[in-house]
Amino acid sequence: MTRLTGKTALVTGSSRGIGKATALRLAREGALVAVHYAANQDAADETVALIQKEGGRAFPVRAPLGVPGDVHELFLGLEAGLKEHTDGTVLDILVNNAGATSATGNAPEDVTPEDFDHYVAVNAKAPFFIVQRALTLLPDGGRIINISSGLTRFANPEQMAYAMTKGALEQLTLHLARHLAPRRITVNTVAPGITDNGGPVFDIPEAVEQMAQLSAFKRVGEAGDVADVITFLATDEARWITGAFIDATGGTLLG
Ligand code: NDP
Repeated sequence: MTRLTGKTALVTGSSRGIGKATALRLAREGALVAVHYAANQDAADETVALIQKEGGRAFPVRAPLGVPGDVHELFLGLEAGLKEHTDGTVLDILVNNAGATSATGNAPEDVTPEDFDHYVAVNAKAPFFIVQRALTLLPDGGRIINISSGLTRFANPEQMAYAMTKGALEQLTLHLARHLAPRRITVNTVAPGITDNGGPVFDIPEAVEQMAQLSAFKRVGEAGDVADVITFLATDEARWITGAFIDATGGTLLG
């Protein structure tokens, strides 16, 4: 018996990076996991296969976020998968992880209205409407975990537009936590710092060394470092935490 046996989870953007590590951990704890992705089906299938190889349960769900009809498409796939693997469509754990990011950043002078709209659509609007739709599937005692960024507390002008939308996501946590407390549904924010998501920059030793200096521990985060925090919040052990901003930056915000 593990901590999430019998539970179901949706992790948006879990074909790769932090989402993938989270899907793996939730599944190790016994949850049936919907592995959501935008386009990279091979990566999603690989994540599902990895979970199954470890004896866990998962299914893929494709739905690009930030485009018209995105949330509807996501829930069609999610509900079909839940019905196939369980008796119904109960969703115990929602992790809003998928995010639109720019690895290199955009100077404020260069951000276009289209860039800005995309950040808003994926990082703020989609999570809001995913939650709205999920409310009918979440049972009392459910979990919502929103993945923000240390950049809401650490100035980096090159990531200003992105950080603004993560600030909006944190507002979702705050107000929703109050709204859902009567149902014992907890809502929390996890804010990673620089985390190796398998992207090309993490193959450049000089770049990694430079990024590592930002953390108090002088290393970049591993996806598992953040996934462990998210997984804890999903368990019953975290039932008394709601509306929180959890700093998972490896001490980057200590200054
Ligand atoms: P990755 O870029 O490694 O993974 C992205 C995942 O999200 C993939 O599964 C991808 O699907 C999916 N995805 C991306 N865009 C969309 C979209 N428009 N619609 C649907 N799915 C999408 O992400 P990370 O692991 O780096 O980041 C995860 C979260 O953590 C994000 O919210 C990010 O902002 C946050 N974060 C990350 C940090 C880091 O250093 N890595 C630092 C601070 C915060 P597909 O495979 O199909 O492309």
